[in-house]
Amino acid sequence: MRLVELTKQYPGQPVPAVDHVSMDIAPGEMVMFLGPSGCGKTTTMKMINRLIEPTGGQVLIDGTDVATLDPHELRRGIGYVIQQIGLFPHLTVRENITLVPELIGWSKPAARRRADELLELVGLDPSRFRGRHPRRLSGGQQQRVGVARALAADPPVMLMDEPFGATDPITRENLQSEFLKLHKELGKTIIFVTHDFDEAVRLGDRIAVLGERSVIEQFDTPERILAAPANDYVASFVGSAAAIRHLGLTTAGEAVRLLGPDRARAADGAVNDTVDDEAPTTVETTSARDVVDLMLRSGHSRVRVRSADGQDMGTLDFDHVCSLWKRSADGI
Ligand code: ADP
Ligand code: MG
Repeated sequence: MRLVELTKQYPGQPVPAVDHVSMDIAPGEMVMFLGPSGCGKTTTMKMINRLIEPTGGQVLIDGTDVATLDPHELRRGIGYVIQQIGLFPHLTVRENITLVPELIGWSKPAARRRADELLELVGLDPSRFRGRHPRRLSGGQQQRVGVARALAADPPVMLMDEPFGATDPITRENLQSEFLKLHKELGKTIIFVTHDFDEAVRLGDRIAVLGERSVIEQFDTPERILAAPANDYVASFVGSAAAIRHLGLTTAGEAVRLLGPDRARAADGAVNDTVDDEAPTTVETTSARDVVDLMLRSGHSRVRVRSADGQDMGTLDFDHVCSLWKRSADGI
């Protein structure tokens, strides 16, 4: 998917809500839009599925300008999950899920089979839940049904607008883990809006950090954003995030042991042979968080780790420390 100079100026507003936003999203990628309330995230999502028409620029999906498509047809090919869930209260769980598949011509039995399959997928026992109405579900269960419904017609593209925002922290973490698994299994292109940095790091292949008018402040992998925020604005997200605190719980020694003796690999898996003779040294009891600090302050992307009795244990690099943290967040 490609956004080209995408712009929305609401009537009577002095400045655009979304201002010349351009980005490329690879098929199967999960991109997080991270930005404060009011920066135009929802407006951008709704321009992608044409609930809102842009005042400038284009949205291309598989090279086709969505402006040339029938909006209803377009929307049937894009799963959309919103914070307010938006289940139809008078329909059962199953009816909510089968709506779109039936609309696009699936037979009733096929749509029902699909509904059961999706309920299983999002962790709800079909026999218990398919006949219920939304009001007889908790907030977290409603969110799951919302995700199942968005997946129903197997759309290649999903837009998720703060989908887990209304749930308590534990339900949210469960939903995030399940959603990560789903994403790995289904390989859909997903844009996921959040204002929660931890959520962005945990779920995203890449994160677009958005400023006012959705101006892209940085668009990169979570590792790179953690390691090298592009500016003070991005750094303020990183610095204030609980995510980084996780690094404080792992020591440099544990990191070296976890990563094995051959740690000199970049995040993309390429072996990096360049030896940094000037790399600073630290002891194994230093926290991974402080290792990152040391890297930032010294300007070296490598740190040598010594054991308490002075033995050389190996080196750690930036991408590695961050990927280590990310793996622990993924529960792997
Ligand atoms: P976000 O989802 O990031 O919180 P929105 O896309 O909802 O941001 O809104 C972006 C900006 O556009 C806000 O300043 C909001 O007040 C404004 N806005 C949203 N919808 C409208 C509208 N229909 N008319 C005028 N201004 C709007
Ligand atoms: Mg919004």
